[in-house]
Amino acid sequence: MQNNNNMNLLGFKDVIFDSFCEDKEFVHIHASVTKMDTCPHCGSTKIWVHDHRIQKIKDTHIHGKKCLIHLKKTRYDCKSCGCRFERELDFIAKGHTMAYRLVFAIVAEFNELHSSSSIASRYNVSSNTVLRILHCLYVSRAKLSSVLCIDEFKGDSGCFKYQTSLLNGDNHSVIDILPTRDKNFLFKYFKKVPNKERQEVKFFVSDMSNTFKSVKNRFFKTSIHIVDRYHFIRQVSWALENVRKRIQKDISSNLRKYFKRSRSLLTKPASNLTTEQAKEVSLMLDLNNDLKLAYRLKELFYQYVLSQPNRVRASKSLREWIRRAEESDLKEFKSCITAFNNWFDEICNSFDYPWSNGPLEGTHTKIKTLKRNCFGMKNFNLFRKRIMFSCK
Ligand SMILES: [Zn+2]
Repeated sequence: MQNNNNMNLLGFKDVIFDSFCEDKEFVHIHASVTKMDTCPHCGSTKIWVHDHRIQKIKDTHIHGKKCLIHLKKTRYDCKSCGCRFERELDFIAKGHTMAYRLVFAIVAEFNELHSSSSIASRYNVSSNTVLRILHCLYVSRAKLSSVLCIDEFKGDSGCFKYQTSLLNGDNHSVIDILPTRDKNFLFKYFKKVPNKERQEVKFFVSDMSNTFKSVKNRFFKTSIHIVDRYHFIRQVSWALENVRKRIQKDISSNLRKYFKRSRSLLTKPASNLTTEQAKEVSLMLDLNNDLKLAYRLKELFYQYVLSQPNRVRASKSLREWIRRAEESDLKEFKSCITAFNNWFDEICNSFDYPWSNGPLEGTHTKIKTLKRNCFGMKNFNLFRKRIMFSCK
C-alpha cells in the first residue's frame, strides 16, 4: 500500500504522498517524510518521536501552476546516545525551502534575457533569492580562440561606463566580459592568460582604439591585427557628414530642411540609390563644391578601395585614396587620413581575411536588451554572469 503513495517517481525519495489540492495559482501537495526505525548515529532502535512540523517547500511548476509541498517532518530522540535527528532528504538542501530542481530551473532561466524579478515572480521566490542563486554560480572565461574579437560597449556597470567584450570569432561565443576598457586592467588580465594560450590567437580583430593596439602589440605579437571594416568605413562617412554640416549652416533655411531630410542619402553608396534619390543627391551636390568633392571621395572609397579583393591591391588603392583626400584639402578629412595612415596595415589586412567584429554587434544588442529588461545592472559581477549565460 505504501508503495502506491511513494513519491520516488516525482523525484522525492523517502516521502509519502498524503493529499493534493489546487487553486487558481497553486498546486498544493501534502506529504510526509517516511518513518525512521534506527538512530543514524549509533544504530539503536530505541528512538522516540520528539515532534512533528510542516515545512513548505517550493517546487517547479505542475500543470503550469506554481507548486508548494507541505512536507510533514518528524524529529526523533535517541534513548541510547541522546541525539536528536531527522531524516536527511536529498532533494532539498539542508535548511533551505526550495527543491534542488527549482534551483536548476531558475539557473536555466539565466540563459534567457529575463529580469531577475520576472524570473522570481514566475517561480514564486523573491528577487533576492534569484540573485543569491546567480551569486553562487561561478562562470569562468572560455579559452581564447584562434580568432579573438575585442570591442567595448556601454554597460554602465560597476564603477565604469564602458566594458570590454571578448568574443570567439569562429563560433561567435562570448569568451569573457571585462569590467572596464582601461589599458592597465587589460594588461593585467592578459598577463594572467598562459603564454601558450595567447600564442594560439592567430587573428586579433578590433576597432581603431590605441588601447587595443597596445594590447595586441604586447600580448599577441605573432597574430595578425585586423581592423573591423565597419569602423574604418565610418571614418569616411563621418568626414562627409562634417562637410555637410559645415555647408548646411551657410545655406537658406528653406534648403536646410531639405538637406537634413536627405542626409542619409549622401552617406549611402550611390549604387544603392533609386533614380529619384540619385536626382536629389545631385541637386544637393550642385549647391557646393566642397560637398561635391567630399561626396566623390566617399564614392571613390566605396568603389575603388572597398571593392579590392586582397591586401596587396587594397594597399595600393588606399594609398592612392589617401593621396587624393590630402589633395582635396578638406579639413574634415584630416582625422580620417591620420587614422588611415596610423592603421594602414591593419586596415589592409581586413581585405585578406573574412573576420570582423560584426558578431560582437549581435552580442551587444543582446546585452542592451538584458540591460533594459533588468533596468540596468549595477553589480558588474552579476551583470557579467548574466551576459555569459545568455550569450553563450
Ligand atoms: Zn543514537
